[in-house]
Amino acid sequence: MSESLLEAIDFERFEQQGADFIGHYDLGQMPRLVAEAIDVSGQCDVELSIDRENGGYRAKGRVRAEFDLPCQRCLDPVRHVADVVVEADIVSEERDEHRHSDVWVLDEKHRLQLRACIEDELLLTIDDVPKHADENDCNQDMIFRATEYEPDEAEVEASNPFAVLKDLKQ
Ligand SMILES: [Zn+2]
Repeated sequence: MSESLLEAIDFERFEQQGADFIGHYDLGQMPRLVAEAIDVSGQCDVELSIDRENGGYRAKGRVRAEFDLPCQRCLDPVRHVADVVVEADIVSEERDEHRHSDVWVLDEKHRLQLRACIEDELLLTIDDVPKHADENDCNQDMIFRATEYEPDEAEVEASNPFAVLKDLKQ
């Protein structure tokens, strides 16, 4: 079993050259991820080192987790594997110059909310429209239900004013 990591790191007292953070978070402790995913019983494995670089601190490492998302075609669970290489500058406030790089921003008490930062990294790996790669893997009964509400041709014609004109001309 790996070690459970602290929710936050106090940078007020982080006077070291650097430190390694190797361990895990329970996915169930990540509320925004819980809202998106179906199965969050697993863990997120974290291997991170935070080192001094250019007068500041930089986090580098890898974050891995697996969880289920609802398929947007059939709503059945689809397995999502997140494997992220992290390289983030740790900054006290976000500025324009950070727009093109990954930054983790300290909170007002100079703490790095590491669990929330890792949660962000996981959320970024989720597609806008998660779905089974192959439509044949979808729950076929549910696909049928999702499409059954599309209006059929007769309904479309009935709501089309020109269809009425066409009838009058005959
Ligand atoms: Zn599906």
